[in-house]
Amino acid sequence: MFHSYTKQILSPLGNNIFLYNNDIDKFVPKNYSKRVQTIKLNSEVQYLKGVGPRRAAALAGIDIHTVYDLLHFLPRRYLDRTMITPIGSLKANIDATIIGRVLGKGILYGGAKRLEVIIGDESGYVALIWFAGYKYLEKMFNKGDIYAATGPVSYFQQLQMAHPEIERIEDVQDQLIHTGRIVPVYPSTAELKESGISGRTMRQIINRALEIDSNEIGDYLPKRYLDEYNFLPLQKALRSIHYPDNIENAEQARKRLAFDELLQLQYLILCSRQKRTELKKNHKYKKSAKLVKKFVESLPFELTADQNKVSGVIIDDMVKTRPMHRLMQGDVGCGKTVVALIAAVYASESKLQTAFMAPTELLAEQHYQNWKEPLEKLGIESSLIIGAMSKPERRDEEDKIESGKIDIVFGTHALLSDPTKFSRLGLVIIDEQHRFGVKQRGQLISKGKRPDILVMTATPIPRTLALTLYGDLDISSIKTVPKGRQTTKTVWRMASARADMYDFLKTRLAGGDQIFIIYPLVEKSDKLDLQAAEDEYKNLKTNIFKDYKVGLVHGRVKKDKKEKTILDFKTGKIQILVATTVIEVGIDIPSASIMVIEHAERFGLSQLHQLRGRVGRGEKKGLTIAVATDPVSHLARRRLEMFVSSTDGFKIAEADLELRGPGEFFGTRQHGLPELKIADLSIDTDLLPYSREIVSQLLSDESDNKEPDIELIKLKKFLEKRSSERIELTRFG
Ligand code: ADP
Ligand code: MG
Repeated sequence: MFHSYTKQILSPLGNNIFLYNNDIDKFVPKNYSKRVQTIKLNSEVQYLKGVGPRRAAALAGIDIHTVYDLLHFLPRRYLDRTMITPIGSLKANIDATIIGRVLGKGILYGGAKRLEVIIGDESGYVALIWFAGYKYLEKMFNKGDIYAATGPVSYFQQLQMAHPEIERIEDVQDQLIHTGRIVPVYPSTAELKESGISGRTMRQIINRALEIDSNEIGDYLPKRYLDEYNFLPLQKALRSIHYPDNIENAEQARKRLAFDELLQLQYLILCSRQKRTELKKNHKYKKSAKLVKKFVESLPFELTADQNKVSGVIIDDMVKTRPMHRLMQGDVGCGKTVVALIAAVYASESKLQTAFMAPTELLAEQHYQNWKEPLEKLGIESSLIIGAMSKPERRDEEDKIESGKIDIVFGTHALLSDPTKFSRLGLVIIDEQHRFGVKQRGQLISKGKRPDILVMTATPIPRTLALTLYGDLDISSIKTVPKGRQTTKTVWRMASARADMYDFLKTRLAGGDQIFIIYPLVEKSDKLDLQAAEDEYKNLKTNIFKDYKVGLVHGRVKKDKKEKTILDFKTGKIQILVATTVIEVGIDIPSASIMVIEHAERFGLSQLHQLRGRVGRGEKKGLTIAVATDPVSHLARRRLEMFVSSTDGFKIAEADLELRGPGEFFGTRQHGLPELKIADLSIDTDLLPYSREIVSQLLSDESDNKEPDIELIKLKKFLEKRSSERIELTRFG
C-alpha cells in the first residue's frame, strides 16, 4: 500500500533523529511532528491539534475563536511550582507544592465530614483534605495515581493540606508542562468542563497555540513606544503571560497586553467620534422655544441651577447641524427626567417626534402617567408602548405614532420591535442607559435618520476615567439637588437584629411612615430568590405586620396587579411594599420614607445607592436600613461601610470601582463599554492617557503632509483590522 510505502522512506540520518513526514514531504526532527501544522494568529482553534468541533464550540462560548484569542486568554492566577517540596519536609503555615502517589482515601465522619486523601513520596506522606465538593473528587483519586498538589499546609492532629489545587500527572512529558515551573490556572466554566476542557486540557491547548512561529507574531507597536513605557515585545509578552519566569514577569506581560487592549478601545472610541463630527442631521429645530418656556412655567417647581444650565446646553446641541450625542449624568433624584422632557418639548415644537426609552415597564409607565397631562395642556400628544399591552391596543398606538399624531413616545425595549415606526423621529432619549445593551440603543436610534441622542445615567463614571472612556460622548452633569430635599440616613445591621428592627418599624408605621422592603433578585430566572421574597411577604403580611397593609411587586406579578399595588402604595392605601429590585430604577414615590434592604451583602455598592434613592424624596427625611446576613465577606463589609458613610453618588461610584474592580464594574454593562478582558481600569489608569495620545496622533497624522511614518502606518493598519473585527462593539449605532 502507498501508505506503508511512504512510511518506509528512511531518513538520511537514521530514524531516531529524523523522520519522514508524509504531510509535508520532508524529513523533520523526530520531536517535530507536532509542529507540522502551521499555526497562524488567525487560524481557527478548531483545527488546532486536540481541539475539534466540540471543544471549539465550547471555546467559542467564552469568545475564543482564533489562535489570537487563545493566546490572549489570560490565566486567572498562577501556581508557583518552580519548587517541589519533599513531603517529609513539609511544615505547617507554609504554601507548598508536592508530588506524590495516592496511598489511600476515605470519607471521614468524626468532626466535620470530610474527604481525606493520603499522598506519599519517598520522604513521607500527608493528608489532603476537602470539606466540600468531595463527592466528585473522591471518584477522581485512585490508588497509585500520581498527583501534584499546591496549597497551604496546616497542622490539625496531623500535617495536612486543606483544599489544595490538584492535578493528576500522567507521564514525564506532562510533568514538564504542568509542574516544575510557574503554572497558569485558567478560568473555567461548566460548559468548558462538559466538553472535556479541564484546566489541564486548556493548558495543553494553549501550549499548542504557543508553538506558533514567532514570525507570525509581528509586533505592531513601534519600538519607541516599547522603550518609553518599558513594555515587553509582543512575542515575549504572549509567552510570559502563560509561562512567566516569575510573578513580576507575568505582571509585565499583562501590562503590555492591557495596553494593546486599551489602544484598541481608544481607537474605536476616537474613530467613532471623528465620524460623528462629520455627520449632518436631516431635521431642523425652530429657533423659538416658546413652548419650552410655557412648559417650564407650568412646572410645579423651579428648575435648579444645573437643570437650567443643562437644558440650555441640550437645546444648543439640538440647534446644531450635527446630531447631538450627549450623556446627562446626575445622582438619583436630581431631576434628570424633566430636563429630558424639555428637550422633548422642544422637539415637539418643531414637529419632531421623541422616543423616550426606559429599562422597566414600571418606569416607562411612571414617566407616561406623570407627564401625559401636563404635556397635553400644551397640545403635545404622548403615548406608551410596553410589552404588557394587548395587541389591538398596541396596534392602535403604533398607527398613531406612524401617522405622526403622537409627539412623545414613552416605552421600554418594546419600542424596538419592528411594527413601531416613527414618521419623523428627531430625538432619542434613553433613560438609565447602562441598563441597555449596545445593540438595543443602536436599534432605537436607527428608527430615525440620524436623530439627536440624549442618554441618561445615575451611575456616574468616575472622573478619572470619564474623558478617555466616554471620548465620543459629550457629558453634562447635574450636581445640585432640588430645594427642600432631605438627605437620607443610612445604617446597616446584622440579621440578628431583625426583631428589634421590626419593633422600631412598627413605631414608625404608627407615626404614618411608609416602608419599602427589598429582596435581592439577581437574575430574573432566579426562582429561589423569588420564592424567598414571596415567603417573606407572606410572613410579614400575616404575622409581623398583620395590623398593616402589605403589598408585593416583582417581575412576575401581573401588570394590572403590579400597577394597582404601586398606585395603592403611592396613595397610602398600602403601608409596606415588599419588592425585588424591579423598583431599583427611577421609581418615584415621594411619600415613602423608609427602605429596608434585605441581604444587603449581596448587592453592589452602586445598586445599593440606586435603591436608597427611592426614599427621602418627599417632606420626610429618608431612612435606609441595610440588613446583612452571615456570611458577610470582607469586601461586602467594606461595601456596607462605604454605603453608610457617604450619600454622594460620585464618591460611591469611585468606591464601587475600587472595591469591585472594573472587571465587574464595567463588565456588567454598567457603562455600556466593550468588555475589557485584560486591562483593569483601577490599576491601568496610567495607560489611558498614553493610549489616547498615541491614537490621536495616528488619526491626525493623516491630514499632514509629512514623511509617512512606516511604523505608525503599520500600527494603524493593525488597529483598523482589529476594529473592523469588533465593529459590533461600537456603542451608539
Ligand atoms: P432622576 O434624576 O433620579 O431621574 P427624577 O427626574 O425622577 O430624578 O426626579 C426626582 C423627583 O424630583 C421627581 O419627583 C421630580 O418631580 C422632582 N423634581 C425634579 N426637579 C425638581 C426641582 N427643580 N424642584 C423640586 N422637585 C424636583
Ligand atoms: Mg430617572
